[in-house]
Amino acid sequence: MINAQYINHIGVAVKSIEAARAFYERTLGLKFEGIEEVPEQKVKVAFFSCGQTRIELLEPTTPDSTVAQFIEKRGEGIHHLAYTVDNLQERIDQLKAQGIRMIDEKPRKGAHHNDIAFIHPKSSAGILTEICEPKKNL
Ligand code: ZN
Repeated sequence: MINAQYINHIGVAVKSIEAARAFYERTLGLKFEGIEEVPEQKVKVAFFSCGQTRIELLEPTTPDSTVAQFIEKRGEGIHHLAYTVDNLQERIDQLKAQGIRMIDEKPRKGAHHNDIAFIHPKSSAGILTEICEPKKNL
C-alpha cells in the first residue's frame, strides 16, 4: 500500500488543445494555467486547475507519440490518472516488491517539474496510472 494522497491530475488525450480548451475554460470555468511542451513524451500539455487537482490536456506533437497512438486506437478521452505520493523511489520499490508491473522503475521528469512514474495498465485494472511527487517550493 503506497498511501496515494489525492488525484494530482487527470490526463486527457485530445487531438487539439485549441479545440478542447473552450470547454474546460469557458464552459466548466476552470482556471487555465498555461501550456508546456514535454519533448520526452512528444506532447504539448495544457493545464487547468480544479481545486488541488489539475486537468491536463495532452496533444501529441508527432504521429509516433504514445498519445497519438492512444487516440488512434481509442479516440479522445481519459488517458491516465495521476496520484500524489511522497518518496517516489521508495513507492516504486514498494510496488515492485508487491509484484506490480512498472513502466518506470526510476522516477522521471513530468510536466510542472514533478517527478513521476507510470504503473503498467496490466497491473492497474486497465487505466494507465501515474504516481507523482510534486516538486516542493515551486
Ligand atoms: Zn500525468
